[in-house]
Amino acid sequence: EEKKSLNFLEEIVETDLASGKYKSIVTRFPPEPNGYLHIGHASSICLNFGLAQKYGGYTNLRFDDTNPVTEETEYVDSIREDIKWLGFEWANEFYASDYFDQLYEYAVRLIQKGLAYVDDSTSEEIAAQKGTPTQPGRRNQYAERSVEENLRLFEEMRDGKYQDGEKVLRAKIDMTSPNMIMRDPILYRIKHAHHHRTGSKWNIYPMYDFAHGQSDSIEHVTHSICTMEFVPHREVYDWLIEKLEIFPSRQYEFARRNLSHTVMSKRKLLQLVNEKYVSGWDDPRMPTISGLRRRGYTPESIRDFAERIGVGKRENVVELGLLEFCAREHLNKIALRRMVVFNPLKVVITNYEGVEEILHSENNPEDPGAGTREMTFSRELYIEREDFMEEAPKKYFRLAPGKQVRLKSAYIIRCDEVIKDDEGNILQLNCSYFPNSKSGEDSSGIHVKGTLHWVNAKDCFPVQINEYDRLFTVEDPSGEEGDFTGYINKESLKIIEGALAEPALKNAVVHDRFQFLRKGYFTLDPDSTPAHFIFNRTVTLKDSWAK
Ligand code: ATP
Ligand code: MG
Ligand code: MG
Repeated sequence: EEKKSLNFLEEIVETDLASGKYKSIVTRFPPEPNGYLHIGHASSICLNFGLAQKYGGYTNLRFDDTNPVTEETEYVDSIREDIKWLGFEWANEFYASDYFDQLYEYAVRLIQKGLAYVDDSTSEEIAAQKGTPTQPGRRNQYAERSVEENLRLFEEMRDGKYQDGEKVLRAKIDMTSPNMIMRDPILYRIKHAHHHRTGSKWNIYPMYDFAHGQSDSIEHVTHSICTMEFVPHREVYDWLIEKLEIFPSRQYEFARRNLSHTVMSKRKLLQLVNEKYVSGWDDPRMPTISGLRRRGYTPESIRDFAERIGVGKRENVVELGLLEFCAREHLNKIALRRMVVFNPLKVVITNYEGVEEILHSENNPEDPGAGTREMTFSRELYIEREDFMEEAPKKYFRLAPGKQVRLKSAYIIRCDEVIKDDEGNILQLNCSYFPNSKSGEDSSGIHVKGTLHWVNAKDCFPVQINEYDRLFTVEDPSGEEGDFTGYINKESLKIIEGALAEPALKNAVVHDRFQFLRKGYFTLDPDSTPAHFIFNRTVTLKDSWAK
């Protein structure tokens, strides 16, 4: 195997380990439980867990629940399930809200050091006093409050003496810093809100800048990896750790991973769900991990995708085609081959004299260990309607009057007669077969170029096929004019009822993966019942979108 060069984060970790700065590393994945995880999160998960695995450390799962929100256990549960499904295990499960007492204490420590103050200004006043990137900001009179007064006011804020927005706690850093975020950032705000874990205990909640780095430090996270928009926050991150004299976690940033033909912001995904453009967070067209799972993606293919797009500093949009390519790569190796006729046309083998016979067909030519399955062959079969053409061009290698094709794992047949109704619709093909042309023991000497999939009329059964396609018609729906929902692909789901499946598919269970010969990769949908099988198309066999 080709030795891959290290990405910039691996280089940082190797340098830190080599210099003895750390003996082992600790990373974390910090989702906010306000939605389901998507393919962008999968990159971050693979990165954080992957680094720790590679260098013998561990990763914490930390729910970043510093915003008092309504109980969202649905999101917490789905996040846990998705990370496990991707194949990763966290060392500890933490909640930022577990640290509220400790964070409060840290805030008191800053006040005591004269490094934080209670400000009574409105948010408009604070914004106006902040200045602009080219103009320094200025401090107001509240910055002159004594340590004692600040301690008392902060305690009163905590105890619920003030209304929302009446006061904030700010760090006293530098109102002239070229970095606007360093201009006395807000650390705490008053919010009389119910929190899903701490209930009504708190009337004040820490801001991101005062929660994230401190939580990292409490957990002794060595490498805190986040996306590029947090670059300007790093200065505050470092300042707080230095002034509090706590464990020196370090923040590193990488570029967000975006995917074409979809949206990734949780707000937009939620809108798709709420406005019923999709059936739910796990609709197979969603870029969520649960959607991809239901679509038939494997964890291996998603990890492979994350590996291929790699880690970088520049934001880019990755072609959806690459994700589909990764799915095909893995599914080709593991998917069981089966035959399903989507739009059936009856074929009668007029010279077939037996009742029926058993044939054997390989489950997966890519995997000799996958073995074979039994299929039956008899006088009445179905082939795909589109595999027959009455007036076929020269190079047509499928079935046509007088032409010969092989039926997969069975015999060569010839079309002798086309039966039609009064309106000229084709009802049935009468064919003859060559008894000495059986696959594996063919002595007929007949050469055919086409091989068709088929099912036996006697034992096939009807199934529903959901043919999914990309959810948006444009590469970047959020970047287009108007609302992104205007670019939804109206043909992103095509339902085919009454496809006919070979009997081996009766054993399918949810998340089994199949290649339906000549059709694509499919998986059984969880809404299937023994009386009504539904198969979701994961991807076609080839990229039909290539430009
Ligand atoms: P959104 O903007 O959709 O709400 P978020 O970044 O706020 O997403 P979080 O739950 O806070 O979502 O994300 C958890 C982690 O996943 C963060 O470390 C974040 O940087 C990372 N992450 C989120 N989206 C992406 C993405 N598209 N590419 C890479 N990492 C991402
Ligand atoms: Mg968010
Ligand atoms: Mg976030």
